[in-house]
Amino acid sequence: MHSARIKNSKEEFPIGKIVCVGRNYAEHAKELGNEIPDKPVLFLKPASAVIYSGGEIIHPSFSNELHHEVELVLLIGKTVKDVKVVEAEKAIIGYGVGLDMTLRDVQNELKKKGNPWTIAKCFDTSAAISDFVLKENYQLKPDEKLELKVNGEIRQSDSLKSMLFKPAEIVEYISSLMMLEKGDLIFTGTPASVSKVNRGDKLEAKLGDIAELVCKVI
Ligand code: MG
Repeated sequence: MHSARIKNSKEEFPIGKIVCVGRNYAEHAKELGNEIPDKPVLFLKPASAVIYSGGEIIHPSFSNELHHEVELVLLIGKTVKDVKVVEAEKAIIGYGVGLDMTLRDVQNELKKKGNPWTIAKCFDTSAAISDFVLKENYQLKPDEKLELKVNGEIRQSDSLKSMLFKPAEIVEYISSLMMLEKGDLIFTGTPASVSKVNRGDKLEAKLGDIAELVCKVI
């Protein structure tokens, strides 16, 4: 069983499902040749794919193009179904930073065939997450910075202001399609400049000064 860990606390939330948003930053949608969506694009990852800061991302042998995607991750604190934005906001109880590791070559093949992205997105260690900061202890800024370094060099850097769909809007939309429950995580999409990583690379992800994540690719 994998749990979301809370910063400076022993409290843990067993993770239910992980809902991920694709194409939530216009510049990233464009760099992959996709249209800017009028609704969030959604897919799922299994909780078993979670690793934590200090963990190792295992490069699958069936891909030659493992990409990093740094993302704001929301921790859900209560069951919500069909809620509007005010209630949706209340359902978010914590924030963290995550890496939605993606097999881009595999995903491109699947997209061409019109098949689901499962194999490209759900491999073990594909969901790296930091400890979460509870909303009761920190008010997330609308322009909070997201950053990813590979071997000390900045690869992705943007602000949450660039998100097409904001956190509460995402929760509202997901809740219209499926129930969200305490312990569910939402990966909210990545800014532009995704790129390939190799075995041996060190990845450092940050959300402002509140959450950080360090992983190595093996
Ligand atoms: Mg992503």
